[in-house]
Amino acid sequence: MVFRSYMSDALEEARLAGARGEVPVGAVVVAPDGSVVARAGNRTRELSDPTAHAETLAIRAACAAAGSERLTGYDLYVTLEPCPMCAAVISFARIGRLYYGASDPKSGGVAQGPRVFSHSQCHHVPEVYDGIAAPEAERMLREFFASRR
Ligand SMILES: [Zn+2]
Repeated sequence: MVFRSYMSDALEEARLAGARGEVPVGAVVVAPDGSVVARAGNRTRELSDPTAHAETLAIRAACAAAGSERLTGYDLYVTLEPCPMCAAVISFARIGRLYYGASDPKSGGVAQGPRVFSHSQCHHVPEVYDGIAAPEAERMLREFFASRR
């Protein structure tokens, strides 16, 4: 199934992020032709940058590759529900479809908390599909935080 393969790429980026000591979240951006144009994991600690979330890094890279600040018709796969900042970036980038894995009751901004896409000030709303490979994404996060205690 096509969803599964792209989310597998995102999960692999999450694994690599965890191995670097970052919160294990990964993201990939897929072009309208189905090619993966960018992939990234969290790098907030490595880059000393609170904005270096997986999906924001992947969108930055995809925009640079496209030579455009907009990714109309592109899809984003991310292993965890985007935070409010990333949800805003997704909207600004005009991402067509957002697929995410685990929900994030603590810091999510899509299905809970600020619910960025449901605000009238949000000018572009992607199609949202949640729960994609969620058990695997959740397991990785759980193990990561358990190992830090
Ligand atoms: Zn974020």
